[in-house]
Amino acid sequence: MGNLEGTVAVVTGAGRGIGRAVAEELGASGARVVVNYSNSKGPAEEVVSSLSKNGSENAVAVQADVSDPEQAARLIEETIERFGRIDILVNNAGITIDKTMKKLTTEEWDKVVQVDLNSCYYTVKAALPHFTEQQSGTVINMSSFVGEAGNFGQTNYAAAKAGLIGFTKSAALELARYNVTVNAICPGFIETDMFGAVPENVKDRIRARIPLGRIGEPTDIARTVRFLAEDGGYITGQTISVNGGVYM
Ligand code: NAD
Repeated sequence: MGNLEGTVAVVTGAGRGIGRAVAEELGASGARVVVNYSNSKGPAEEVVSSLSKNGSENAVAVQADVSDPEQAARLIEETIERFGRIDILVNNAGITIDKTMKKLTTEEWDKVVQVDLNSCYYTVKAALPHFTEQQSGTVINMSSFVGEAGNFGQTNYAAAKAGLIGFTKSAALELARYNVTVNAICPGFIETDMFGAVPENVKDRIRARIPLGRIGEPTDIARTVRFLAEDGGYITGQTISVNGGVYM
């Protein structure tokens, strides 16, 4: 067991991909983990079983669409009811709807901003009273290198992910007095279902652009989250790029 023994972590969108790897990494370090999912209960329950060894109840799956403020608040309340506290909040849930602006509809713009940006405000707002009472907390927001660099066909996603960076810095300023750190991670291209949607010939071109020569693994991001949670007590308001050098 690692350093997170006795802590409670909430990971949004943790049924697969980066979120799943984060839940497993934090669990491996001893945290009790709330595995949030929106639609697919099965994969979330699988993550819970892999975390709950020897019948001990170290993890629980909680359904909530975090783009809905009431459901996001319920996620935090269920965490408190179940485990009595919240130490680590990883805002990982995200979607893409990639189209050039010419084709993008207002609904598609709104949907991505709602899931990728507004949800983070909803969960942090709901966790705030608990963080202030505990006088501690760690918030990690999953942004993207696209929020820093921009990307063709991703105005909605880039705006939401850039917004997360501004939110992270402002929240870090507001919450430092309560001993709460807030940081953003900007993954590069990571091998998940989200990246799986990219056509094979485009993937080859992407690989050629990455100085370290490979697409990242979800564990590359999960280990960064674990580092921040375990040892990042003096790191706040930062944007940490984990991208193989694709954007410097
Ligand atoms: P993914 O599509 O594999 O997983 C996203 C998860 O979020 C899914 O489990 C999905 O069900 C969940 N989710 C979506 N909307 C939700 C909602 N409203 N409420 C609760 N859960 C919801 O994607 P991933 O690649 O694992 O991405 C995880 C995060 O990392 C996202 O925020 C994404 O933008 C970011 N990211 C990914 C990459 C990449 O290359 N994969 C790069 C940069 C940033």
